[in-house]
Parts: sequence; structure tokens; C-alpha cells
Amino acid sequence: MQNGVWPIAEESEKLEQIDLRSMLPEELCELMQRWGEPSYRAKQIFSWCARGAASIDEMTNLSKSLRETLKRHCRLSALTVLQRQQSKKDGTVKYLFGLHDGNAVESVLMHYEHGTSLCISSQVGCRMGCTFCASTIGGLVRSLTAGEILEQVIFAGLDSGERIDSLVLMGIGEPFDNYDNVIRFFRLVNHPDGVNLGLRHISVSTCGVVPGIYRLAEEGMPVTLSISLHAPNNALRTAMMPINRRYPVEELVEAARHYAKTTGRKVYIEYTMISGKNDSEAHARELAARLKGMLCHVNLIPLNPVEGKSGVSSERQVIERFSQVLKSCGISSTVRRKLGDDIDAACGQLRRSSIKEQGHEI
Ligand code: SAH
Repeated sequence: MQNGVWPIAEESEKLEQIDLRSMLPEELCELMQRWGEPSYRAKQIFSWCARGAASIDEMTNLSKSLRETLKRHCRLSALTVLQRQQSKKDGTVKYLFGLHDGNAVESVLMHYEHGTSLCISSQVGCRMGCTFCASTIGGLVRSLTAGEILEQVIFAGLDSGERIDSLVLMGIGEPFDNYDNVIRFFRLVNHPDGVNLGLRHISVSTCGVVPGIYRLAEEGMPVTLSISLHAPNNALRTAMMPINRRYPVEELVEAARHYAKTTGRKVYIEYTMISGKNDSEAHARELAARLKGMLCHVNLIPLNPVEGKSGVSSERQVIERFSQVLKSCGISSTVRRKLGDDIDAACGQLRRSSIKEQGHEI
């Protein structure tokens, strides 16, 4: 079985169930051929999946016998909205979505001048262990399937009635720890018979899984890469992000340079500002020296406080000063607007508070 999607067992054997919403049109076509169905059925099924059909019975333009065959061999999971919180300040909507197995993930709908953006999760929990991040508390439960990543886009769109213009993979999880399903998701969401969202409108963020960066550079997909750097040197970065022991700053920045050079696309450097930790002028100069000559832009993010984690955000003027030092060294940067901080909008926080409310730990 590849990617948890495509069964290779013979029809006569007990088949593992096909995860219908993770299937690409060409794979559905192959399945239809195997079942002696006309190939246009593949397009119909793919389109139902992309429009958010929650059951095979909803696919009313398929023959009854095909629906029965699909029900025998396939599963079609659908997210449920467990919680919806809307920020009174800026209209940001945070969803807690329930998965078929009782787990939950978060997605956040944000409104910008350039359109509506959805921040989506790639895993249930995370095993990367960054000290300031809520997603990592409790570790990794499991990776999402490509279909489950897609479902966040479909169901946030249906629930809000809004057109989603862009996506960021900056929710719960490390996308490159679920590489194959994330790439499959890109193909699914980009397909003209489905959601049809341009790859140029997708950003994927990594805490520094270097091999994933090199692989992505080879995919020929014009997605934007963000690197969660957060520190300009190894001593500081290792203390904040355990992944740095495996892939130190030099290797990570080298991979980012390679991505920018190979794809011609600007790389975004995420830098969370933590008071007294990584926010001095010397840190800014060290960061600028690291990034010198790279096609990149630095996003300075005020730390969102997470319960049970130490650290507070740098003051506004400290962040502004950091940004000015970067600029004087020739590195462009912006201070990211805080959206939805009245609704636990930092990664993983809604899922954590719901787990606590339910009174069980993961
Ligand atoms: N695992 C990926 C994507 C998920 S995190 C990654 O690390 O890039 C998305 C972004 O939010 C990352 O830049 C992460 O470092 C940042 N982040 C996590 N916790 C935060 C917090 N409490 N305050 C501000 N930013 C945070």
C-alpha cells in the first residue's frame, strides 16, 4: 500500500479500504477501469470529494451499483466542527475539527487585505519539541492523510461561506515529517476538477527538516517555503528547537539558499521574538550576516504566550528596533500582525484547551 491510499492487493483478497478523498483523478480513473466503469466516473467522484460530500450516498449522479461497490471498498471521512471561535478584534475564525478516529486538529481562517487565508494542520500533535510551541505538548499522535489535510480547506470554506484565497501549512504538525501526504495534498487541492487553488498561493513552513527542503526544491511546485529559524546561532537554536541538533543552522540556511536559487522563489524566515532571549541588536546583526545575499524576507512574530511554557513576547519597540537593524544590514523584514490572540490562535492552543476541558491527556 502506498501512502495509505492505494491498495495493491488483488480484488479476491481482503482489501484495505481506499481513502477516497486522498485519491487523485488519475488513480480514480485506474480504479474505474479495474471495475469496468467508464472513466468519466472518476471526474464525478473527485468532484464530489472536493465539494465536501460527507458520504458516498450523496454522490447521486453515480449508478446505484457503483455507489455500492464504492461503499464496500472505500471510506470517505469527513471533518466535524467541534468548536468555532471568532475573534471580536479582527474576525479571525479558529476551528477545532474532529477527525473520524476521535482526534482533533485546528485550522485558522484569517482576513487580510489581499484576501482570506487558511492556516491548516498537517499532523495530530507534533514530535519536534520546540520549547515555545503548544502543538508539541503531548507529542505526535499521528500524521494526517492527504484527504484530511484537504478536508480542512473544504469544510472551513463550506462553514464560513468564504472563498479561501491562500493556504499556509503553519498549523499543528511538521509538514516535512509527513512529506508524501503533504505533496499529495498539493496535487489534490491544485487540481482544476477540484478545489483548483494555485500552488503559488500555498506556503509551507518547516522547523528545519533539511532533507524535506531539498526534496521540495525538486518537485517543480511553485509553493512558498517558510523556515522557522527563530535564532541566529546553534547554541540558542538548539536550546529552543531540538531539531537543530540534527540539522544545525549552517545546514538549514544552506538548504534555504538552495531552495531560493533552484526555484527563484523568495524564502520567508520566521523569527519569533522572545523577550531577553533572541531579540537583541547583536542577534539581529548575527541573523543578517547568516542571511546575507539570500533571496529572503524575515517575518518577525511576537511570541504568543502558551500556558505552561515560559517566555514572553518582546516589546513592540524592541521588535521595531530589531527590524531596523536587519534593514540597515540589507535584510527586508516585517513585523507580523497578531491575529486572533483573543481566541487562543497560537498553534495547538485550541486543541490543548479542548483536551483539558474533556479532562483527558493525550
Ligand atoms: N512545524 C512547522 C509549522 C507549524 S508552526 C514549523 O515549525 O514551521 C508555525 C509557526 O508558528 C512556526 O514558525 C512556529 O515556530 C511558530 N510558533 C509556534 N509557537 C508559537 C508561539 N507560541 N508564538 C509565536 N509563534 C509560534
